[in-house]
Amino acid sequence: MAAKGDMVYAWTTDKEIADKAELGGAVTGLLKFALEKKIVDAVLVVKKGQDIYDAVPTLVTNPADLKNTAGSLHCGTMLLAKLVKKYLDGAEHMKIGITVKGCDMMGLYELAKRQQVNLDNIVMIGVNCGGSVSPVMARKMIKEKFEIDPDTVKKEEIDKGQFIVEFEGGHKGISMDELEEQGYGRRTNCRRCKLKIPRGADLACGNWGVIGDKAGKATFVEVCSQKGADLLSQAEKAGVVKTEKANEKGIEIRGKVESAMLKLGDKWRAKDFANLGDGRKRLETIVKETSKCIKCYSCIEACPICYCVECSTRKPYLVAPGEVPPNFMFHLIRFSHISDSCINCGQCQELCPMDIPNALFMHAQQVEMEKMFGHTPGISMELPVLGFAEEKTERERLSATGSDQIFDIFKA
Ligand code: FAD
Ligand code: SF4
Ligand code: SF4
Ligand code: SF4
Ligand code: SF4
Repeated sequence: MAAKGDMVYAWTTDKEIADKAELGGAVTGLLKFALEKKIVDAVLVVKKGQDIYDAVPTLVTNPADLKNTAGSLHCGTMLLAKLVKKYLDGAEHMKIGITVKGCDMMGLYELAKRQQVNLDNIVMIGVNCGGSVSPVMARKMIKEKFEIDPDTVKKEEIDKGQFIVEFEGGHKGISMDELEEQGYGRRTNCRRCKLKIPRGADLACGNWGVIGDKAGKATFVEVCSQKGADLLSQAEKAGVVKTEKANEKGIEIRGKVESAMLKLGDKWRAKDFANLGDGRKRLETIVKETSKCIKCYSCIEACPICYCVECSTRKPYLVAPGEVPPNFMFHLIRFSHISDSCINCGQCQELCPMDIPNALFMHAQQVEMEKMFGHTPGISMELPVLGFAEEKTERERLSATGSDQIFDIFKA
């Protein structure tokens, strides 16, 4: 019987899945088992579309179809969380199994805090994540740095700090550090990301720490919740997934890799935020960059925290209609509504047609707020500090004290 806190190596006994899977297929095997046993009604995962740069979110209800979704796609830069809210009724009326990267998991928590998704109906199978590469960058990098036609690449992977491509006639790897020093590599938000092992999911699965004869053939699984422990135990009992205790040395290695990745995240944060400047200079940079905005609303559509039916940016008395670029108020509204909860998923930047570094601006503000109030978004159901302000109580306090503070943020 698995229990919360357990660390095991796991792999599927389903040969069809194992052949297609990234590292032994435990993730797909577990999802298939959950669907077959009706633990979930559907599974939301990602599969290869036109080519390896095209990651397509897909909802699977037939367990036999799940084998087509095994494998990791590092050049697909979408977020699954908002799809659950937008198209699956926030999992209110169906139980869903989802494979989540750290940002997918964080998006689900932020939506759950706003009552936009029901986490009770979701089983999250987390995958560790060292980062992803935008499809446009991946093609450019493979052409210019690898000197390979991107259309001939059959598989890509990120392993031991290298971006490796398999193409017709061979394979080639280049260190991610080298690529990033030269302006290629992972998305900039991924470089700053510090959610490498998604422990807020029910299970956290990945390659780091799998050593010995299971290297490359099994996934390291950290059991993070009772729901995760139950799923793993039942699947093992049914013979669908096999496990063995994780090697002690492997656990140590996994810890070291995680801490190295966190340090790297800190390094990129320091670099990116320093380039933005401080105070007035930072504001000037943001105003200048956002003056390219064509008010297409992609950033709002994509942001997992923007869920409002009546968005303030569409209110004519706040942002004048028909003006492009919009008044800076358009961006200020988003900063004021999102910056305490931004999960640095990068979607608002990835999908901006004007290449405005929206995620960098929002993330830089989020980190400042985190320093002030100690709230880290996306990792639990804890509300941001503003969530504790209760209007009636605050109005009474204002009237009783004569204070001009809308709420006393430093008191809590
Ligand atoms: P499989 O059975 O092959 O299942 C993989 C699952 O991942 C499937 O459900 C598939 O739909 C889903 N998936 C594929 N691409 C995406 C995507 N872009 N977004 C969301 N879901 C997706 N492990 C590490 O230890 N270190 C890493 O640095 C690391 N980086 C990763 C980066 C990405 C973008 C991804 C997707 C995974 C990463 N992993 C990493 C996890 C690892 O690659 C395996 O997914 C994990 O070990 C499970 O292996 P498996 O054979 O059991 O999975
Ligand atoms: Fe992975 Fe973090 Fe990038 Fe999401 S933001 S793809 S979890 S590195
Ligand atoms: Fe993601 Fe951008 Fe929203 Fe932050 S503001 S959560 S980076 S889409
Ligand atoms: Fe809601 Fe503000 Fe986002 Fe508009 S910008 S959807 S009002 S959070
Ligand atoms: Fe403006 Fe870019 Fe947002 Fe579109 S995605 S509204 S161009 S900032």
